[in-house]
Amino acid sequence: MGKDMPPPEDSDLRSTSGSIFVRPKAFGDGIYDILLARMMSLEIGPGDRLSVEKLAREFGVSPTPIREALGRLEAVGLVVRTHLVGYRAAPRLTTKQFEDLFHLRVLIEPDLARGAAINADEVLVASLQETLIGMEEAAIDGPAFDQFARHDSRFHSLIAASSGNELICDVLTRLNIHIHIFRAISDSAVAKHSVAEHRKIIAAIADHEPEAAAQAMRQHVESSRENLKNSFKAAET
Ligand SMILES: [Zn+2]
Repeated sequence: MGKDMPPPEDSDLRSTSGSIFVRPKAFGDGIYDILLARMMSLEIGPGDRLSVEKLAREFGVSPTPIREALGRLEAVGLVVRTHLVGYRAAPRLTTKQFEDLFHLRVLIEPDLARGAAINADEVLVASLQETLIGMEEAAIDGPAFDQFARHDSRFHSLIAASSGNELICDVLTRLNIHIHIFRAISDSAVAKHSVAEHRKIIAAIADHEPEAAAQAMRQHVESSRENLKNSFKAAET
């Protein structure tokens, strides 16, 4: 009694083996994030070629982490890989694809908002409020649409995640990223509109009012579709 306990003999071993099995992902994630940010801000435009060799030189790394980051972007539909050509940023959506995506969003997202209002806890509501603050700041700061889009994306992902349906979360994660690139071409009027609509959705979720939340989400997705459709068509001509 009172004696200091010697450290368990295997403690070092355990921490060592722990560190061995941690995937060294920080570096690759950094490249992924930078490429994603460039795509969100349209610094990398639709259809632009992404040379593994050039990127490896720029980042001062071997081709492996570059290929890994590009592979992850390919998995979420932001990069396409073709035989001979290699990697390219995904091309712009066609008007038909744009309409199809919003058709799906209108069908799915009101139901997710309904579920979020039923399941909502303080953590969810606080996280949703955070995205609102981020969107307001991005909207005030002028054309920071990539930032605005990130907060918007997170808002919709949080609501999807609260549904507990992993398949729907996965589908929406893929779709939102596409859609948010297009937000980069929209104007600040769209941004202000979205903030007010998000506030309404959060209020309904926080008050545990499923039907009001579903209705507010439906209005938000439908008005986003209308607003973005105009910017989309303007950019197409
Ligand atoms: Zn939104």
